[in-house]
Amino acid sequence: MNGQGAFQPPSSACPALPERCPGKRPRLRLSPLRAWETRKRRKMSHALKQVFNKDKTFRPKRKFEPGTQRFELHKKAQASLNAGLDLKVAVQLPPGEEQNDWVAVHVVDFFNRINLIYGTISDYCTEQSCPVMSGGPKYEYRWQDEHKYRKPTALSAPQYMNLLMDWIEVQINNEDIFPTNVGTPFPKNFLPVVKKILSRLFRVFVHVYIHHFDRITQMGSEAHVNTCYKHFYYFVKEFNLIDTKELEPLKEMTSRMCH
Ligand SMILES: [Zn+2]
Repeated sequence: MNGQGAFQPPSSACPALPERCPGKRPRLRLSPLRAWETRKRRKMSHALKQVFNKDKTFRPKRKFEPGTQRFELHKKAQASLNAGLDLKVAVQLPPGEEQNDWVAVHVVDFFNRINLIYGTISDYCTEQSCPVMSGGPKYEYRWQDEHKYRKPTALSAPQYMNLLMDWIEVQINNEDIFPTNVGTPFPKNFLPVVKKILSRLFRVFVHVYIHHFDRITQMGSEAHVNTCYKHFYYFVKEFNLIDTKELEPLKEMTSRMCH
């Protein structure tokens, strides 16, 4: 098990996330590849590609429909990132945009990216290596849902991750929570659901950083993971979307990484 001491300092380099094949459901459509992303993707380590390609458990990306407002907003968010804007600035709501739209676009994007990051180490996150979904000895997460696990239940990390990703996928594809039509208002429970999604995604970072950072380093993707983490952290802080208590397991690292 790697302690937090194994963390690497964030690098300013930001290898782009590999974009995946089009999603099977034409719901929240993400933009097609940008040229710079393609170039960087080609440089991605062979190992990373191999791990991803053979992994069938990981979901195709959610996509935004080209021509829709969401798609335009997604492009806007990407453009700020491409322009090399400080991540702290890049997460800010652009003038004239609706906050819920901005949040929805980011939630889908973070789901795609964090899902992919977990996908790269999932072969190493097994019932044997991680019989408990934890973040070091101090933090253990229990799964609860409205189906099989009505009471908080201790599960292995891979079981927990599968349920977590499935659950988020259901939420972001639920038209009642993430309406895709611009005219349809977001429901009253939109922000509570978003907060839950982001808190759960944060736990993926906790587990990956504390238990699998050696693998991330071996693959040479620490700069990429760190950049994704910083982006995520600045975003949730900007809109106050995760309780401080939930952020505690990575508090020390965050204070070194995010200023
Ligand atoms: Zn694990």
